[in-house]
Amino acid sequence: MSGTTTLVWFRRDLRLSDNPALTAAVADSDHVVAVYVHAPEEEIPWSPGAATRWWLHHSLTALDAALRRKGVALTLRRGPTLPTLIALARAAGASKVVWNRLYDPATVARDTAVKTGLRDLGFECESYNANLLHEPWEIRTGQGGPYRVFTPFWRACQMRLDVQPAPLPAPRRLHGPSQPIDSLALDELDLLPKIPWDAAFSQHWSPGERGAHQRLEEFCGEWLGRYDEGRNRPDLPASSRLSPHLHFGEISPRQCLVAARNAIVEQPAAAKSADSFIREIGWREFAYHLLHHYPHTPEQPLDERFERFPWVESPALLRAWQQGRTGYPIVDAGLRELWTTGFMHNRVRMIVASLLTKNLQQPWLAGARWFWDTLVDADLAANTLGWQWTAGCGADAAPFFRIFNPVLQAERYDPARVYIRRWLPELTQLPDKWIHRPWEAPAEVLAQAGVTLGHTYPRPIVELPASRDAALAAYATIREPVAPART
Ligand SMILES: Cc1cc2nc3c(=O)[nH]c(=O)nc-3n(C[C@H](O)[C@H](O)[C@H](O)COP(=O)(O)OP(=O)(O)OC[C@H]3O[C@@H](n4cnc5c(N)ncnc54)[C@H](O)[C@@H]3O)c2cc1C
Repeated sequence: MSGTTTLVWFRRDLRLSDNPALTAAVADSDHVVAVYVHAPEEEIPWSPGAATRWWLHHSLTALDAALRRKGVALTLRRGPTLPTLIALARAAGASKVVWNRLYDPATVARDTAVKTGLRDLGFECESYNANLLHEPWEIRTGQGGPYRVFTPFWRACQMRLDVQPAPLPAPRRLHGPSQPIDSLALDELDLLPKIPWDAAFSQHWSPGERGAHQRLEEFCGEWLGRYDEGRNRPDLPASSRLSPHLHFGEISPRQCLVAARNAIVEQPAAAKSADSFIREIGWREFAYHLLHHYPHTPEQPLDERFERFPWVESPALLRAWQQGRTGYPIVDAGLRELWTTGFMHNRVRMIVASLLTKNLQQPWLAGARWFWDTLVDADLAANTLGWQWTAGCGADAAPFFRIFNPVLQAERYDPARVYIRRWLPELTQLPDKWIHRPWEAPAEVLAQAGVTLGHTYPRPIVELPASRDAALAAYATIREPVAPART
């Protein structure tokens, strides 16, 4: 093959625009080979869950179609990654391999080994930042250490937001290798579930770069101005729902930032809401900052006192929670939304996580693992932050004693009872007054609504004030820090 060839190793950067590795490959070489290597065993113990595998299948389909429109096909291979990349680079006559960085502990270790292995054989390698506004190590406290509190972290980030480079355009044309390269068929990666529990996912999502930009455009046009007041409302489509697209790198945070800022030019009244939206992107940055500096936290609490927390560990309670059978309508609605769509609203995530870790005293990791398997946006950094924050054992965590009351939360954030009725058809006929607390409804009201507690809908799995007291008593046993050992 004449001319230089670069191999672009796609991972969670499944887009053509604002993709620095792809742009560099096109600028530096005559031919480009685009490859995705499937190697879930290299991400153990956090290999992709079932819902993200569904997303990945469709996102790879979309990426392949987008690449073909530019002139090359996506080559699919199975791992292990290093020997696969070496064989492919040799077959394609490539002298260079480029990729965009990932930050999970297992992938960092794998990527470091890949870089060393390729360089030892004389291949050039380069990696880039495509998925964060700032590298997790770039933002430092005055003392040079990592942040553990969001507000000062975000203040430090904001000082650097104006110097963000403009998003890169997609390459106009790609020139593939002159010899055809073998590829697996997508179905051979076996990403789709055997039991079709994902049947409704495609009604809710359009994986791929095009779907991501459509969603961003719709959000900025219709909801950005109301984000501040609407983002806590699970009954409204008021948040962006960009999280799975961001997780798979179908869109970059920089593109979201620019779109939100451009929207303000046309709708100046949206400025405050746009700031709130950008701040949420900041929480994503914070999650990656924490994962980088505290790589043990996907399994262990950041607050070490919680190593001694007396979790109850009941498989029956966990199962009832997973299946949305707790008897607390907002919790059950959230878990059913998750099962049906692969998504749950942020406010409801906090409510269900609080009930599991505090009222039911189940380990936060059990909840994190369930989310990992069922969320289409399951993301190690954000999931770890979300669970540890809610359980009270993470960075900038809600104090443990702030235990969400699912009834009050539901009345406040689902005021028209739309969310509950959407996900719990068996309660639809209950009057607004009782639908968030059916166990308090008079017998004749329940009968008229066709609700039989314990039969058509569960009784509460736990009593709120008593379980709250039990959680606080458990917390009291670990509240004091461990005294340093005497030497
Ligand atoms: C227990 C728990 C588990 C969570 N697990 C995940 C997860 O696995 N993956 C995930 O992406 N988010 C997770 N979150 C954070 C948050 O719930 C989702 O990012 C959000 O609901 C996505 O909806 P959206 O795209 O409409 O968000 P928007 O409100 O439109 O926010 C824009 C973007 O900012 C980012 N973002 C927003 N809130 C957070 C946050 N609290 N932490 C980190 N990033 C944030 C997301 O990328 C999101 O797409 C979790 C939160 C909790 C409480």
